[in-house]
Amino acid sequence: MRNLKIAIQKSGRLYEDSIKILKEAGIEFNNGINKLKAEAYNFPLEVFFLRDDDIPQYVEDGVADIGIVGENVVLEKNKELNIIEKLGFGKCRLSIAIPKEKKFTSLQDLQGQRIATSYAGILNTFLQKNNVTADIHEISGSVEIAPGIGLADAICDLVSSGSTLFTNGLKEVEVVLKSEAVLVSNKNIAFEQQKIIEKLLFRINAVRKAKNNKYILLNAPNEKLEAIISILPGMKSPTVLPLAEKGWSSVHSVLNENEFWDIIEKLKENGAQGILVVPIEKMVL
Ligand code: ATP
Ligand code: ZN
Repeated sequence: MRNLKIAIQKSGRLYEDSIKILKEAGIEFNNGINKLKAEAYNFPLEVFFLRDDDIPQYVEDGVADIGIVGENVVLEKNKELNIIEKLGFGKCRLSIAIPKEKKFTSLQDLQGQRIATSYAGILNTFLQKNNVTADIHEISGSVEIAPGIGLADAICDLVSSGSTLFTNGLKEVEVVLKSEAVLVSNKNIAFEQQKIIEKLLFRINAVRKAKNNKYILLNAPNEKLEAIISILPGMKSPTVLPLAEKGWSSVHSVLNENEFWDIIEKLKENGAQGILVVPIEKMVL
């Protein structure tokens, strides 16, 4: 059986989280510097280390079966790929920014302006949709200095905190696209490789679900149990165990991060004591 081949960024902003997601899925491989590829010891996977810009092409051609890359790159390269899963890291936005002293009221202010970007394809589509005709200057790096050196009136670039814009005297005026790392795949995956992808996704999702959930243990007087159980969501229903002290029970359950603090407050109001919250490593439903 042929191994599944995955392409990930060889260095840069997606590198560490890409490695981490595979390692947390229990896949062990050697990721030494200057390596082009590595074979996993305990999973039918081969890892290719590439520049992120090249990943869509390699996956379209089938040199790699799947890849981890930013949605921004996937859209810009416009290759024949399937996006199979958003991965929750590498979050950023592609935004238009202008010198901070300039006025901005609407996108129409960009009419006839020179905009520097590495994302000419995405920007062009966006401007067309908004009936703006601008002069797009495609450059491959250091886009944020273009207005300062008189090369452009505005830029369209990736932003996460906005500090790079700020230090270059720019302000963000329009979000063109929100992006995160995604898992992409070739359009024609053979049956055997498809099975390996499913195994990999199953593991990745178990780890991600676990991160969003906490295991909670608490003590409650028996007369309050009914109220407390009605507050807890749990996977099925909570586990209730008698304590050595008469009239008291220990209640165990799983809480989602989003509702966590609300529920903890309600539990306390309803007489819960000694609340312990512990991380979950993996979660298989
Ligand atoms: P490579 O050498 O692989 O071509 P690169 O310099 O093009 O690397 P990075 O800067 O490492 O790329 O960014 C990789 C991806 O990380 C981006 O395409 C984007 O999806 C994501 N990203 C997240 N936050 C940011 C940010 N603030 N600026 C740029 N990219 C970001
Ligand atoms: Zn790149």
